[in-house]
Amino acid sequence: MSSLQDSRYILEANNIRKDFNVKVKNNKIVAEEKILKAVDNINLKIKPGETLGLVGESGCGKTTTAKLLLGLYKPTEGKIICEGTDITAFKRKQLKAFRKKAQMIFQDPYESLNPRFKIKDVLIEPLIIHKIGSNYKEQLKIAEDILEEVGLKPAQTYLERYPHEMSGGQRQRVAIARALILNPSLLIADEPVSMLDVSIRAGILSLLRKMIKERNLAAICISHDLSLIRYISDYTAVMYLGKIVEIAPTEQLIKKRFHPYTEALLEAVPNPDPDFKISLQNIKGEAPNPVDKPNGCSFHPRCVKCMEICKKEQPQQVEIEKGHFVLCHLHKNKNS
Ligand code: SF4
Repeated sequence: MSSLQDSRYILEANNIRKDFNVKVKNNKIVAEEKILKAVDNINLKIKPGETLGLVGESGCGKTTTAKLLLGLYKPTEGKIICEGTDITAFKRKQLKAFRKKAQMIFQDPYESLNPRFKIKDVLIEPLIIHKIGSNYKEQLKIAEDILEEVGLKPAQTYLERYPHEMSGGQRQRVAIARALILNPSLLIADEPVSMLDVSIRAGILSLLRKMIKERNLAAICISHDLSLIRYISDYTAVMYLGKIVEIAPTEQLIKKRFHPYTEALLEAVPNPDPDFKISLQNIKGEAPNPVDKPNGCSFHPRCVKCMEICKKEQPQQVEIEKGHFVLCHLHKNKNS
């Protein structure tokens, strides 16, 4: 086993950065090459059975972070350690083996399942690719068991169906079954219920939560919706323009948040608790173009608490309470 491993964590991302070269038209004729820092100096650690919620507006770098953690992109800088091994050094063959350990559930169950495959084929295909099960009969049994585990019972009722013969919620259950059939240790769910009817979202989320706990998975749930993240996540990281601006245990973050952006995001979440105090501050304007990030704190043009220093200097991350980190000039380390 590699010396990189800290056995308490399934996944560790250390100072990861991802740059893309993009062409930006600065007038109608000339296209200028610029660097888009999609993910900038991100650190994450996830233990077995834990879920980290990644929350932020679209374009903040959540999905790029997920693709880095799954080995679908190579980081420009930094290391990603999964179960003791640095996946950023993997070659193609090692990446194929790693895919067995790291699975993703996509937003749209209508697109993530091959419409020409019956459900049994959708589930058996990854078993064939990764050579699991000694024969077709054994693979079919594995497929039946996982279907029943995700609540599609009796499994025989569903195996011969095509995806279009199922409801959106049933399809998302099949997508979850497909992600779990290889017994992964890392699961990433990208907006797992945003395409589903509101009436079936709670059932899918509670299934996901149950599977993560029962199978001791390290999980990441990506969403723009803090109420969903609150339901499913043990820790929450708030992203803005490629950086994590606040990260803490979820309930701690909901009750006591320190970053003005987190504050503004929480304003948008209806809360049934009558004692829950909603601040009246808001975000100004739109998120800037990520290829032209503002100097200093990149949130400063929208921040109602912006100070002179915020326009010039990037804030450093501080641990404001145990396990609660914030990237904002308003705050200092609790011991400094
Ligand atoms: Fe607002 Fe300044 Fe904090 Fe940035 S560093 S969030 S601009 S107060």
